Amino acid sequence: MVDTVAFDADDTLWHNEHLFQDTQKKFEAIVCRYRPGEDIHDALFAVEMRNLQLFGYGIKGFTLSMVEAAIQLTAGGITAAEIHEIVQLGKTMMEAPVDLLDGVEETLAAVKGRFRALLITKGDIIDQTSKLERSGLADHFEQVEIVARKDAAVYRTICARHGIEPARCVMVGNSMPSDVLPMLELRGHGVHVPYELLWAHEAHDEDPVCERFHRIARLSDLPALLERLMAAPA
Ligand SMILES: [Mg+2]
Repeated sequence: MVDTVAFDADDTLWHNEHLFQDTQKKFEAIVCRYRPGEDIHDALFAVEMRNLQLFGYGIKGFTLSMVEAAIQLTAGGITAAEIHEIVQLGKTMMEAPVDLLDGVEETLAAVKGRFRALLITKGDIIDQTSKLERSGLADHFEQVEIVARKDAAVYRTICARHGIEPARCVMVGNSMPSDVLPMLELRGHGVHVPYELLWAHEAHDEDPVCERFHRIARLSDLPALLERLMAAPA
């Protein structure tokens, strides 16, 4: 039986990755002035991955990585005005409107009351808190957890803190490595809801062969899946 449903936020409840990809294009246009025709995209990704451990996930770390990559790619030639332009790109991202995915409010309303609903998101605490407030969805969740990373140990700690039995918990999200696989490791359920864009860092190779792994095309398919799980023999 299932009693708890935990949701990822970025690209599960609201659009996020497009914001990063759009900003990246603007960043590339700036650096391209110095390095026409070169692969700026991969160079930025490499800097981002190198910095992830130190800066964590989120817009502020991404902005610093853009600045560092710009200095590196232009061999220090980038101007202060252009660095300012890059910092402004980051600020614009922080203030971008929160654009909910289709059917999110109806789905959360259907889950609330029947199950304990949690939000588990990784990233910067100010950024994620502000997005949740602006989304208007905060009242749907009994608990909100903003964590530095999402792995089995982090989910185990969250479950222990809130008295949740992982086997009775369903984690719903767009990322296989962050949302689905760690919950399967704890013998909980993992529901994958693919988003139209995927950050290269969240890519995965093969789907797990496991009866607790589920994939739905859209979030609004979740209530029907939960019904099936509740009806299944324990
Ligand atoms: Mg996500």
